[in-house]
Amino acid sequence: MENVTTARILVIEDEDRIRQFLQRGLAYEGYRVDPAADGRTGLDMARDNPPDLVLLDIMLPGIDGFEVCRRLRAASDVPILMLTAKESIEDRVTGLDAGADDYLTKPFSFDELLARVRALLRRAQPAKPQVYRFADLELDTGTRQGRRAGKTFDLTAKEYELLELFMRHPRQVLTRDVIFDRVWNYDFGGESNIIEVYVRYLRQKTEHDDLPRLIHTVRGIGYVLREE
Ligand code: CA
Repeated sequence: MENVTTARILVIEDEDRIRQFLQRGLAYEGYRVDPAADGRTGLDMARDNPPDLVLLDIMLPGIDGFEVCRRLRAASDVPILMLTAKESIEDRVTGLDAGADDYLTKPFSFDELLARVRALLRRAQPAKPQVYRFADLELDTGTRQGRRAGKTFDLTAKEYELLELFMRHPRQVLTRDVIFDRVWNYDFGGESNIIEVYVRYLRQKTEHDDLPRLIHTVRGIGYVLREE
């Protein structure tokens, strides 16, 4: 598998237009995106679901970006890329003092943002690979391959994310909304059958040699990883 990323990026930005632009753009690039419209929400999300990188606007209602940055930095070494509306040396110095790793002035091009994001993620310590296990199914977060009954199989980026979601929540019914939110990050609309399609792909890969089904449909609700 080449260069597939599922880094989790927390976007703290109060301006809807920019936040949605970042969310869609980053999701399209394969990142998992958690959007927050204010600092308080962002800090809560960072605590509940530690991100791999934070995009942080300076001018925020309530707690401003500098303070959010200090609090994030007090709790972790997560890379922080600050966004600001104006090119100001003072903002830049204050941001770096508060513990930001890099700095981008609005308006910025999405390509430039992406380049900075990649550089920061590369610099950060890669997450320690681990192997999720459920019944005779395994998922290796390092090689991003699955394995069942001694047979290893490759996964596309979305198949991997979906299977990782199931492996992290065994025996728990995952609703369609939760799956959309965690794997696709945005709403495809009620008519979309993309989850069904990807569940079918995963079943094809995990049910080789007539192995019993592990990913079950819960009619009208969603799916669950469990043994029959
Ligand atoms: Ca703002």
